[in-house]
Amino acid sequence: MTEIEKRQDRSPVPSAFDYAPAPESREIVTLEDRYDLFIGGEWVEPKSGEYAPTISPSSEEPLAEVAYAGAEDVGTAVEAAGEAFEDGWSDITPAERAKYLYRIARILQERSREFAVLESLDGGKPIRESRDVDLPLSAAHFFYYAGWADKLEYAFPNRKPKALGVAGQIIPWNFPLLMLSWKIAPALAAGNTVVLKPAESTPLTALLFCDVVRQAELPPGVVNIVTGDGRAGAELVKHPGVDKVAFTGSTDVGKEIQRAVAGTGKKLTLELGGKAANIIFDDAPLDQAVEGIINGIYFNQGHVCCAGSRLLVQESIYEQVIAKLKRRMGTLRVGDPLDKNTDIGAINSKEQLEKIKELVAAGEEEGAEIFQPPCRLPEKGWWFAPTVFTNVAQSYRVAQEEIFGPVLSVLTFRTPDEAVEKANNTPYGLSAGVWTEKGSRILSMAQRLRAGVIWANTYNRFDPASPFGGYKESGFGREGGRHGLEPYMRFE
Ligand code: NAP
Ligand code: MG
Repeated sequence: MTEIEKRQDRSPVPSAFDYAPAPESREIVTLEDRYDLFIGGEWVEPKSGEYAPTISPSSEEPLAEVAYAGAEDVGTAVEAAGEAFEDGWSDITPAERAKYLYRIARILQERSREFAVLESLDGGKPIRESRDVDLPLSAAHFFYYAGWADKLEYAFPNRKPKALGVAGQIIPWNFPLLMLSWKIAPALAAGNTVVLKPAESTPLTALLFCDVVRQAELPPGVVNIVTGDGRAGAELVKHPGVDKVAFTGSTDVGKEIQRAVAGTGKKLTLELGGKAANIIFDDAPLDQAVEGIINGIYFNQGHVCCAGSRLLVQESIYEQVIAKLKRRMGTLRVGDPLDKNTDIGAINSKEQLEKIKELVAAGEEEGAEIFQPPCRLPEKGWWFAPTVFTNVAQSYRVAQEEIFGPVLSVLTFRTPDEAVEKANNTPYGLSAGVWTEKGSRILSMAQRLRAGVIWANTYNRFDPASPFGGYKESGFGREGGRHGLEPYMRFE
């Protein structure tokens, strides 16, 4: 064997390779000790009198006290949104509405570093991702929907689109500012006003967004932010002044919300969980596919509803793919979310860490083989090493349930038919990935996979022009694109 051939066996990056720390400064962020509710353009103390701390998951340090809205507070916010709708937001010219959305987009770009640092502090995601993914995409969403605001009649020809009124929006903790943007941008473009409830563990970027709303001189009451826990979300859903409910979160809560709005005439969209198949055929470019597997499951610590959490590998390339994957996993850096070299940050909350640990223990007990590359986890905070399970049977919990953590389960297949059958064998249907050199195979797989979003030779790519949403227990309705406007409109 020649010298060059021998070298191919070695890890491309030696495992002892040490990076110097490259922390992003926290200085740019100014935290208040305590945050109230943002209602009618003002900071309002909660009538509930309740506050609770939001915590940095990488250090367990409390960052600030945040108001917990009660039923009365949610009511005040819905009224403020209702008044703002009647008082003019529904009547201003569409081009004027677009102007505000463009302003918000530009301010988000200008303040993106501040937002990125705060997102990583409060939620634990690596700064590389909040800086390069969450922030640019959030601004892009506002730019994109600003463009539609004065073209709604072209978006829905011959259908006379009209705004609904007040949108009640509830978002999860995995992409706090991005989910806010997915919700608020289309709602405002369509002429609605909103009351949004961020997740309990990640309220800070939504609260900083209130500052952007003021800076953009949006009329008071058009955007209201009520922080709190699930109770505030439930109050928002059932408030009679809400015309439309948009929810992103778990399937269980989604079902509860669907029951709560049944028979009320409120419009509803649900973006729920997933257990996506990432399918690698034997003709795929393997090194690229391995990058796609890594990005599919370890992006944002695997706290991604569309994560490629079930890897389906064609049998003939199984050994090769697993060897490459394990080697690549050894190069992932787990640690301080504010370090620019970090690939995997902190697990968002203690509860989420417990859930991941429970499912991983179940996988081991059921007989799957676990691999975790050697890595030293910080002592403080909530962490989980990147994990892969091989020798997984379809019936195992790790192959069925959404783990929502950096844990991949590997299954194999021989034929495209078997891949489709296994991929579709889940109650979810949010996303899927297909890796192959053949264009015809991509198209035939895309037709047969029951998933709302299908990536080919890439994974976790997002664009505001492209609709996103699920089938089956992953929910209904689409966000993004022209489709994302429809849930916020009625048609005459
Ligand atoms: P979750 O418990 O369902 O919470 C989502 C939001 O709903 C939070 O703001 C939560 O408040 C609130 N909430 C809780 N109980 C409620 C109730 N009874 N009525 C109204 N609102 C209520 O979900 P999560 O654990 O935060 O998020 C993870 C889940 O979201 C995963 O299953 C993931 O797949 C899914 N997700 C889906 C998408 C998508 O686009 N399809 C995107 C991201 C995440 P608290 O924060 O106080 O609990
Ligand atoms: Mg937090």
